[in-house]
Amino acid sequence: MNAKTDNPFSLRDPSLLRHQPYVNSQWTQGDGTPLEIANPATGQLLGQVETFLPESVSLAVAAAEAALPGWRALPAKARGESLERWHALILEHAEDLARIMTLEQGKPLAEARAEVCSGAAFAKWFAEEGQRVYGEIIPPPQEDQRLLVFREAVGVCAAITPWNFPSSMIVRKAAPALAAGCSLILKPAESTPFSALALAELAQRAGFPPGVFNVVLGEPAGIGEVFTQHPAIRKISFTGSTRVGKRLLAQAAQGVQKVTLELGGNAPFIVFDDADLETAVTGALAAKFRNAGQVCVAVNRILVQEGLFARFTERFARKAAALVVGDGLSPDTQVGPLIHARALARIQALAADAVAGGARIVTGGKRHAKGGLFFEPTVITHAAPGARALREEIFGPLVAIQPFADEEEAIRLANDTEYGLASYFYTRDIGRLFRVARALQYGMVAVNTPVIASEASPFGGVKASGQGREGSRHGILDYLELKTVWVAGL
Ligand code: ADP
Repeated sequence: MNAKTDNPFSLRDPSLLRHQPYVNSQWTQGDGTPLEIANPATGQLLGQVETFLPESVSLAVAAAEAALPGWRALPAKARGESLERWHALILEHAEDLARIMTLEQGKPLAEARAEVCSGAAFAKWFAEEGQRVYGEIIPPPQEDQRLLVFREAVGVCAAITPWNFPSSMIVRKAAPALAAGCSLILKPAESTPFSALALAELAQRAGFPPGVFNVVLGEPAGIGEVFTQHPAIRKISFTGSTRVGKRLLAQAAQGVQKVTLELGGNAPFIVFDDADLETAVTGALAAKFRNAGQVCVAVNRILVQEGLFARFTERFARKAAALVVGDGLSPDTQVGPLIHARALARIQALAADAVAGGARIVTGGKRHAKGGLFFEPTVITHAAPGARALREEIFGPLVAIQPFADEEEAIRLANDTEYGLASYFYTRDIGRLFRVARALQYGMVAVNTPVIASEASPFGGVKASGQGREGSRHGILDYLELKTVWVAGL
């Protein structure tokens, strides 16, 4: 790659910028059509990456397969030491990694920094958690027997990650897989390969043995087929749309692969009339407009109890309208661009659909005056029950606010969706807190806070939002199989 295309990055450590698939600890020439990566804030070409034809992905599978026995046999502490080095290197290079992310993904630099650090935390967490993979000794049915349960690495795993969190989604999958003793082949999203390749560069410096962590780039459907058809791959972990997740689950059925899916959401944000109004407004702003709303746990619908509806809507809309929209590299920016033209067109269509159904626009509603892929932070009310903005995952800076009469109606509206990832509610009533938390059909419920993810907490959904959990001790169990050893005749 010539210096000219590398220029927009101006990294402290330019060797973090890689342009090739990473297989067996080597940067490997691609044989597919190169991918061009553009900055969503400016349209400027950032560079190209080489890709693999689907058949070349088997090189990476072979490397991961060869690496597996040695890696799995290491003491967990030794695997943890590699992960600790990776963690330290990611933090050491956080500024460069954040810059790469903002350039290729668009989010404000402060959010990119926060993502790099919160992602790195998974490496440290699982470095430690890997050493606490305990088995069981079960009382045997007969005196001369012993019944033992071991946990063993699943084997070679494949991960497919999205563009909205191009760094943390990778570490969140790779760290538990590697800590468990699995080897991994990652296919990052095609819009954001540079963040993934920079993590691979740091994995190389951290000294993971060859083949333990590999990154392939290329046409997603073809690679997805290789992943789900290859007999050596025992598990697929996917974060992305429900549409693609369902497809991978069906494909994985053929080889009975284990599948972890973190899919779409339709998060309700419920404000009861006993809530602290300012705290609720601030929380809703954060949970809605972070990453320009392109977050699977982003607030999709705001439900406000009637007595508070007018005041909440006025304050929320005023603050939404005041958010600074722009290039993520500019220090004032709070809301960056959408990722691509398709995403922008979708938000425009959702707004038009709501208005056609009788919705009122309180603020925003159209492309931002800055042009490009920028969309105004948008608040609507009076959306009809069938409006797409209430039914579909929005994935952009638009939200509808709806009133509700009582707890029962709030719960009914909140659960009226095929999705079940994140939900939020604000109340100061302790009885209500436990009633509503129990009634919400979601994998995650945040009460009086917009923050719902950390390495210490199980992250994942129910219903069409997926299966399996990431983070916490449960995150590593997804990469382990139980083996029962029944000993008789003692
Ligand atoms: P989005 O619409 O938000 O981009 P996707 O589910 O399409 O979400 O993308 C998430 C990840 O899934 C990306 O890495 C993408 O390349 C990958 N992907 C898309 N289609 C397929 C497919 N048919 N098989 C495997 N992976 C896919």
